[in-house]
Amino acid sequence: MAKKGFTTVNLHSDRKDKPEHGVLHKAIHPSVAYGYEDSRHLAEVFQGKRAGYNYGRQLNPTVTALQQRVCAMEEGIASVVFATGMAAISSTMLSLLRAGDHVVSSEFLFGNTNSLFGTLQNLGIEVSFVDATEVAKVEAAITENTRLVFVETIANPATQVADLRKIGELCQSKKLIYFVDNTMTSPHLFLPKTVGASLIINSLTKYIGGHGNALGGSITDTGLFDWQDFDNILDIYRSAEPALWGVTQIKKKGLRDMGASLGPEAAHHLAVGSETLPLRMDRACSNAKLLTEFCCQQDKIKNVYYPGLEDHPQHSRARQLFKNFGAIFSIDLVDGVDCFDFLNKMETIISSSNLGDTRTLAIPVAHTIYYEMGAERRASMGIADSMIRFSTGIEESNDLLADFELALA
Ligand SMILES: *Cc1c(COP(=O)(O)O)cnc(C)c1O
Repeated sequence: MAKKGFTTVNLHSDRKDKPEHGVLHKAIHPSVAYGYEDSRHLAEVFQGKRAGYNYGRQLNPTVTALQQRVCAMEEGIASVVFATGMAAISSTMLSLLRAGDHVVSSEFLFGNTNSLFGTLQNLGIEVSFVDATEVAKVEAAITENTRLVFVETIANPATQVADLRKIGELCQSKKLIYFVDNTMTSPHLFLPKTVGASLIINSLTKYIGGHGNALGGSITDTGLFDWQDFDNILDIYRSAEPALWGVTQIKKKGLRDMGASLGPEAAHHLAVGSETLPLRMDRACSNAKLLTEFCCQQDKIKNVYYPGLEDHPQHSRARQLFKNFGAIFSIDLVDGVDCFDFLNKMETIISSSNLGDTRTLAIPVAHTIYYEMGAERRASMGIADSMIRFSTGIEESNDLLADFELALA
């Protein structure tokens, strides 16, 4: 039988496990605890000998249903979801790495991930930040202690595209965990598994949930990394099938012990949101394309950053790797045009820090999300004071164009 489509599989996934009353959505289960008639059964659940639920911090049926959806979308072997995307990243790093380990990270990073990696450095985990658009820079940073390479697919806000395929080959040859943040592309535009990713993080808050009404994050194991090559797996988790060692340690040390669990209501919102991911993303990408082409012709706009533009440094790489070029773009205004005044003239586009919403959102990045990191690091990331990042939504394109005309008038 032909492989079913992304949307078809996602829409029908909750029905596969024969849910109560034939409901089409997995029910929202608020219960924190689960009772067992046979106390031996409870013990077996604790010991991992039987599937089942014990306590809401570790697992919940509504959350499990979302995990299965994410896992199917990323074509992985197992997924774990968390309260936020940052919880997914921090719990994974802290459960897999130890003091003395070394990480090579892209220097073009989501601001809070950048800040988190600074915290890891204070805990004795070394992090080298490199220009991940060139595999040679990643390779040059690898040391004896390197355990993991972290990159984003399309970086924010200047839209650099990492050399995803070559870094994947490098990680495979050096037996390193390849941890890819797929938030900007989402599994609709790109499957990191196809370039050899070991672990994938998605902020479900963004495109997958898609409506700015629930926070969440996920980690997916693609099954490509051989956990037998990884010394940091604790003995207690080495009894199961080796393919599941990593995800088991992330679930126990990360989710259970650090405790950033996703609630069932949020899981429901995110699951429903995910059903329209390809429809929303296609429209948001086409809006981004149209707006960036318009921006390129404007005298008051100095630079336009979007992988869909032919003069973008990684345009051909993005074309090869992704189904479309994403729905994030940034502009630098010419000197004398104030970014706050520019934004304040817009009627439909909202000044807001989120992205991946159905609504088009914009933010002056140097003064907000990248304020804390300081001018020097901003300059190294290519972030000008006048830069504005746009996250296109699904409005009719003419309404968005009209806003740019107002702002430029
Ligand atoms: C938003 C975001 C995160 C963090 O996700 P939250 O759900 O907000 O915690 C991580 N990486 C990228 C690329 C993001 O855009």
